[in-house]
Amino acid sequence: MTPEQYLAPYAAHSQTARARRHPEAGHASRSEFQRDRDRIIHCSAFRRLEYKTQVFLNHEGDMFRTRLTHSLEVAQVGRSMARNLRLNEDLVEALALAHDLGHTPFGHVGQDVLNECMKDFGGFEHNLQSLRVVDTLEEHYGAFDGLNLMFDTREGILKHCSLSHAKELGPVAQRFIDRTQPTLEAQLTDLADEIAYNSHDIDDGLRSGLITIAQLEEVDFFARRWHEVQAAYPGLLGRRAIYETLRRLITVLADDLIATSSALLQDAAPADVDAVRAAPPLIRFSDPMRKDATELKRFLRQNLYKHYQVNRMRVKASRIVRELYEAFVSEPALLPPDYQEKTGDLARQARKIADYIAGMTDRYAIREHRRIFAIDDL
Ligand code: MG
Repeated sequence: MTPEQYLAPYAAHSQTARARRHPEAGHASRSEFQRDRDRIIHCSAFRRLEYKTQVFLNHEGDMFRTRLTHSLEVAQVGRSMARNLRLNEDLVEALALAHDLGHTPFGHVGQDVLNECMKDFGGFEHNLQSLRVVDTLEEHYGAFDGLNLMFDTREGILKHCSLSHAKELGPVAQRFIDRTQPTLEAQLTDLADEIAYNSHDIDDGLRSGLITIAQLEEVDFFARRWHEVQAAYPGLLGRRAIYETLRRLITVLADDLIATSSALLQDAAPADVDAVRAAPPLIRFSDPMRKDATELKRFLRQNLYKHYQVNRMRVKASRIVRELYEAFVSEPALLPPDYQEKTGDLARQARKIADYIAGMTDRYAIREHRRIFAIDDL
């Protein structure tokens, strides 16, 4: 097994981590968290991330981020910060690659519509669905359903969870009941996600023309980096100027997180993962950086995610998801046999429909909608 001696005592260690739900022998050349990462890369939900929306619909342009490229960027940012803090890079990578597996087609709107549709049957939440994908839905192994991942990986995938869901889920959600923290690797991946989407959504937003540099210059945090680039390369324009700005932005955020968290870890000196769980969050930005990052998020929410052209996509997408759900509920015979509930139990049928729809890529959902509703497409 790959040595993990270089890790800090407060990192997640394969050897001392909680076992898998279905016991398995260790692997000769890979640590447990490397195996988790590899299982995630080989699962079918991971491949479908390529055709799922981040902000822009998958077919709107080949240059925009999809959930797959987003997840790869989260893994890159996360791993480099993890290495600096002597945390377990393999666990961070596994969490980054898995964190969006449960997303529906069409980004957050798909989740919101499914959640409404499923309100009598426990609702729908993408974090819970990501866990459901790795615990139950993937069919890869002879001995068990799902990927049989390590406890720390499963717990890190479940980033948020209501108290009522936590009570149903058992140990993996216990921290929401106890109000304790997950591993440092999970805390870090969550913030790597934020660093990645804040910067790449600016890039995609500018590329699409929905936001402009002039607007962004009103965001102090962006403006400082932009003016640094203008000072270093007078007259630099276009994509190069944007990339030079965004790479600085990522570096500033990552460096701040490393410095702030290093100091916190040094002070708290948690002896092991159990001490990490009991402590307050130890991976974080400094207060000024938190303020800057939040200002940027607010800008993107107001100017990009709520842009009228994005709203049009959102309304259309919500109609597709709702109509698919309603069609399948009223006529389960339209579903592929695997998704038809033979017992007639309504809640189980609804959950299978949600699984089916959530598993769709953007283009598959559009095609499926056409197959079901278009009269001239018989
Ligand atoms: Mg994400």
